[in-house]
Amino acid sequence: MASNPNDFRTDIWMDWCPSCGNYGISAAIYKAYAELNLNPTKTVIVSGIGCSGKTPHFVKVNGVHTLHGRSIAFATGIKVANPQLKVIVHSGDGDLLGIGAGHFVALGRRNLDITVIMHDNGVYGLTKGQASPTLRKGLKTKSLAEPNMFNAVNPIALALASGYTFVARGYSMLSEHLKDLMKSAIQHKGSAFLDVLQPCATYNDIHTAEYYRKRVYDLSDNPEWDPMVKEQGREEIGKILQAWQRSLEWDNRIPIGIFYQNPKTPTLEDTLSERLPSYRETPLPQQPISREDGTPLIDQTAFTRLFSDFIVKVKKV
Ligand code: SF4
Repeated sequence: MASNPNDFRTDIWMDWCPSCGNYGISAAIYKAYAELNLNPTKTVIVSGIGCSGKTPHFVKVNGVHTLHGRSIAFATGIKVANPQLKVIVHSGDGDLLGIGAGHFVALGRRNLDITVIMHDNGVYGLTKGQASPTLRKGLKTKSLAEPNMFNAVNPIALALASGYTFVARGYSMLSEHLKDLMKSAIQHKGSAFLDVLQPCATYNDIHTAEYYRKRVYDLSDNPEWDPMVKEQGREEIGKILQAWQRSLEWDNRIPIGIFYQNPKTPTLEDTLSERLPSYRETPLPQQPISREDGTPLIDQTAFTRLFSDFIVKVKKV
């Protein structure tokens, strides 16, 4: 039976600005976690720096508020150490696609079972509204002295190119729809990316709730839209191209919904389990480091069996 959304609320005061999109995202989190009946002791939210970085403080599960751009690196360590945990990253577009862009790409390549939820508002809100990597070139929000001079990153296309096996976009003001996307992303086995369009009521006077209200449409309104990969190879490539093409839509119509979903690609956990069959049942910190007689395992610990690729063998000359 599903738990109650209120079970996941902490009593910490939310200090986001009035009308901030983060409130809609939080409402979707509480409902999604309740409907999935997530075990708070087996769920971890990891955040970076920015307004979205406060998310773990407001949700009653394990939480880590980490460094700027390093949320995915922390999340990767947590998930690899204990694959039994649900690990969910909440970070901003500046944090994930600016300083954290290398980690963002690396997670897609690994297909590790982590969900990344990006609070995408086009600005660095916590530091007074500088242009972030998703603000289009030439736009001048109210806190910029001059129009933005850099081209924007297309987050959906970058996620597809990096290898994420679930790629979707939601909108913070459509909380019920967003909740369903969060549930699908969390249930997906593999690296999942959910781009959440979020008005920053204080610093972004272009991408307002009114702006999005006129433009967002749901991909699944088209009964022929099918993002699910059923077979690796040709069909998979076709689905990636279809998703990439849709990701280019922006000015007049902005698609939300699932762009791409591929349950056929093995996860990093699958690969690690081949090397160490007990990997999923016995998290790394609980794996033995010595034999029954007390002698150390040294080169045969679980860690060295999993990550032998990283051991450099130097030949004596
Ligand atoms: Fe929200 Fe923008 Fe205020 Fe940050 S600065 S809390 S993103 S409205």
